[in-house]
Amino acid sequence: MARETPTSTTNPTPRSQSEADALIFNVAGLLGEPAGTVQDIVVACPALDPGAGPVQTRGITGELRFSRTNRGLLVRGRLSTAIALICSRCLRDIDCPVEIKLDDEALPSLDLGTGVPVETEDDVDVLRLTTHHELDLNGVVRDAIALAEPIAPICREDCLGLCIVCGLELSGGPHDHPDEDIDPRLEGLRQLIDSPDAESPAARPNSHRR
Ligand SMILES: [Zn+2]
Ligand SMILES: [Zn+2]
Repeated sequence: MARETPTSTTNPTPRSQSEADALIFNVAGLLGEPAGTVQDIVVACPALDPGAGPVQTRGITGELRFSRTNRGLLVRGRLSTAIALICSRCLRDIDCPVEIKLDDEALPSLDLGTGVPVETEDDVDVLRLTTHHELDLNGVVRDAIALAEPIAPICREDCLGLCIVCGLELSGGPHDHPDEDIDPRLEGLRQLIDSPDAESPAARPNSHRR
């Protein structure tokens, strides 16, 4: 759901927003206003379909301001959500907060005066309003979430990760291994320590006892 709170004199018709169009805003009213008119939007919508990107663990909240420019709309604001990741050191599930900062100009795909489609082939990177004068932020926000995904997420700065011998978490406190796990190259030394009274010359090659 997004609550629209226009600060201009026009009152856009309130709409109920389903999950599918949670980040789609009808801006026809604002486009009819003079440059400089602003509209503030409070966003509180469900998580997006992640596609191939990271899965959101909560919905999207935040505030946006749409400002009418000479050419179209300026879209500014901050949104926040969180994504599900796995700590790259200890493999624990983590809930990683994501902040999305938007600062984009959205241009009409129809000439506002004539209704003729605008030539858009040259600027594929420009955010375009739909032919129904809707601002669809789903793609922009989904891209921003994917970009915010850290390459090597960690559950906390001092996560020590897992022991390479036993696989247990090293952050859990003192970490000792029983002798069975000792490095095989040190096996001879262990036998010396375990059997100080052994008389076998093989076990005590440096013994000077008689
Ligand atoms: Zn960790
Ligand atoms: Zn271990």
